[in-house]
Amino acid sequence: MKTRNRMNVIFTALLLFALVPFNMAQDKLPKVVILATGGTIAGAGESSTGSAYTSGQVKIEAMIDAVPNIRKLADLRGEQISNVGSQDMSVKIWLDLANRINELLAGDVDGIVITHGTDTQEETAFFLNLVVKSDKPVVLTGSMRPSTALSADGPLNMYNAVAVAADPHSKGRGVMVVMNDEIQSAHAVKKMITTPVQTFMSPQHGLLGTVIFGQVTYFHYPFGLHTTESEFSVDGVKKLPRVDIVYACADMSPDLIPIMVKAGAKGIVIAGVGDGNMTEATLKAAKKATAKGIKIVRASRVPIGTVLLHGEVIDADYGTVSSMDLNPQKARVLLMLAMLKDRTREELQDLFLTY
Ligand code: GLU
Repeated sequence: MKTRNRMNVIFTALLLFALVPFNMAQDKLPKVVILATGGTIAGAGESSTGSAYTSGQVKIEAMIDAVPNIRKLADLRGEQISNVGSQDMSVKIWLDLANRINELLAGDVDGIVITHGTDTQEETAFFLNLVVKSDKPVVLTGSMRPSTALSADGPLNMYNAVAVAADPHSKGRGVMVVMNDEIQSAHAVKKMITTPVQTFMSPQHGLLGTVIFGQVTYFHYPFGLHTTESEFSVDGVKKLPRVDIVYACADMSPDLIPIMVKAGAKGIVIAGVGDGNMTEATLKAAKKATAKGIKIVRASRVPIGTVLLHGEVIDADYGTVSSMDLNPQKARVLLMLAMLKDRTREELQDLFLTY
């Protein structure tokens, strides 16, 4: 009996010895929350070599459990915000995400990872870059291949995204996108190719850094005001003004602008040809609309470059604004947020020069 008691004491001591350092190590891990929204990273298909699949099928806890060693990087937990292909990303989900992130980062959470489809990931990243009120890391990731595919890229992307969110050097760099070993800024990142894994690039600004099997290296800070420096807030906001995008082409019809306005658009982004150009007739239609208070931004359908303030179009003559280097989809995000307040054309232009 005595021997058994002694054994119990030794066993308990050994257990405590084993558990205390483990708990201490756990306490030291940064707290990271993964907010899942869906996308191909949560997608599943019938065959590991077929291209057909459905986005947003796998729940976040199963996704975390599928990534080896990810829990060694951070004290992790997941929350499901939505489970959609990002072609169905909505302003409502953006507002839910922003509010939840602001709530979590105001508390003891050290970083956020968002799993998201790649189709509209750059828009969500840029939206959050403007409305998150914290300098703690917020990192979006996704995948090009569904979870059931041969060489699925989601697990390593998620591992790397958590490593970036847990890294103290990630503070103050705004919202970032991590995929295929690269860290890109929300302002600069663009989806450049439809299906290969190297889809996200920052052709004009370059990478912020790299993350190789969890090892983070930074080269730059991002361009533009963001997060704690941003004047935009969605606190109490339930919806954003409608802003539509119209795509320019040879012989573009001017009819589209009044049609959009009639349908309820308060702002329009024109994905212009070249340096934000459009047919003479469309410019006239734009002038008519801006005279009635509709906000019009000239962006470009060309994937890279800055729309000049004084190129072939002098914006002041038409009441329009240049998107500078923001592509049409990001110009739309900035315009929607900017229109939460009444602003002059000049004030709007200043925002496009600053963010
Ligand atoms: N349509 C999908 C999405 O954006 C495909 C892209 C992806 O997730 O990679 O959700």
